[in-house]
Amino acid sequence: MKVLVINCGSSSLKYQLFDMDREKVLAKGLVERIGIEGSRIKHTKTGLEAVVTETPIPHHKAGIKLVLDALLDEKHGVLSSLDELTAVGHRVVHAGEKFATSVKLDAKVMDALKECIPLAPLHNPANIMGIEAVSEVLPKIPQVGVFDTAFHQTMPSTAFIYALPYEYYEKYGVRRYGFHGTSHYYVAHRAAEILGRAIEKLKIVTCHLGNGSSITAVDGGKSVDTSMGFTPLAGVPMGTRCGDIDPALVTFVAEAEKLSFQEADALLNKKSGMLGLSGVSSDLRDIEEAAGRGELRSKLALQALAYAIKKYIGAYAAAMGGVDVVVFTAGVGENSATVRAAVCQGLEFMGIELDNARNAVHSQEAVISADSAKVKVLVVPTDEELVIARDTKRLVG
Ligand code: ADP
Repeated sequence: MKVLVINCGSSSLKYQLFDMDREKVLAKGLVERIGIEGSRIKHTKTGLEAVVTETPIPHHKAGIKLVLDALLDEKHGVLSSLDELTAVGHRVVHAGEKFATSVKLDAKVMDALKECIPLAPLHNPANIMGIEAVSEVLPKIPQVGVFDTAFHQTMPSTAFIYALPYEYYEKYGVRRYGFHGTSHYYVAHRAAEILGRAIEKLKIVTCHLGNGSSITAVDGGKSVDTSMGFTPLAGVPMGTRCGDIDPALVTFVAEAEKLSFQEADALLNKKSGMLGLSGVSSDLRDIEEAAGRGELRSKLALQALAYAIKKYIGAYAAAMGGVDVVVFTAGVGENSATVRAAVCQGLEFMGIELDNARNAVHSQEAVISADSAKVKVLVVPTDEELVIARDTKRLVG
């Protein structure tokens, strides 16, 4: 069975084609700058060099057509006919409280996702556009939606409610939703598999640290708390997002700097976090390099990041009544031994202790805790696309 996985943004579209009989990626690529000058598709057939084609791509439908052409290409393609394609799975950011698992897409589900647009005004419209573009180009193909928020729907109300007037929860759906659910689900399950333990018996803290970052408490395989909130702005400091701050700062800074709502929102989402603190970059590699040169703001940014993550691990150990496993994933979590070491340092009292040599790994599955440590610490590269492909196979199978 061949499954196409699509992650559609407002001007970009990432795709991977899976052979689900072997769970292998046959080809993948990225369509960029849709509707903007300089649009292009970068396509890679597994085992071959990537090919980049610059061509006008006025809308998502044109982007999908290009993807299908690339998949059918004589040299770089992997399909001889579109009939070989069984289904398409989509990453969809927000399903509100409507879906706690992946679902097969139909008109009713699409209406529900449209109702969630106010909760994710930047992401859901783009995801919906991707689904509609596939429906236009391949009207008969079954499609599945896999939601970033779904895994976190098991959170108890004590963890998801904000101490605002309760009517706002009822009226506007104001509550913690959490994001990166597919990643937290994947790495928690994979960690249990690697350790040869039943996930039902484990208390796991998963740290997804990328450009956007979130920490999740996974108790017995279920998300019971997570650091992102109503939006992906909450939690630990991120590339350009501030994470948790005193909410009164929003009005204070807006007033002091004479910012509109939109400008204040842009400040918190795009100019804060590691970029705002370091003044160097949102990219952790640049910040580590600047800190290495002795730049104090970059050093502070790294320390503040590690401190925030450490506090979440402590908080979630308290929420779950203990912790057996800590998992690091995504760009920073998979690659930065420095961040991992700084996060774990000082947590020996709760049984967390790294083995320095093991912690040197990059982007590969590894247990990096010391043998004597009570808590297992792992690096697990995330694979959200594989989860989407598996759910798609299960739902259309
Ligand atoms: P996204 O949230 O956009 O999917 P990623 O998970 O790809 O982001 O993570 C991007 C982050 O990972 C960037 O801050 C980048 O600097 C960091 N990163 C990637 N490789 C390394 C590395 N070798 N060392 C330190 N940080 C890295």
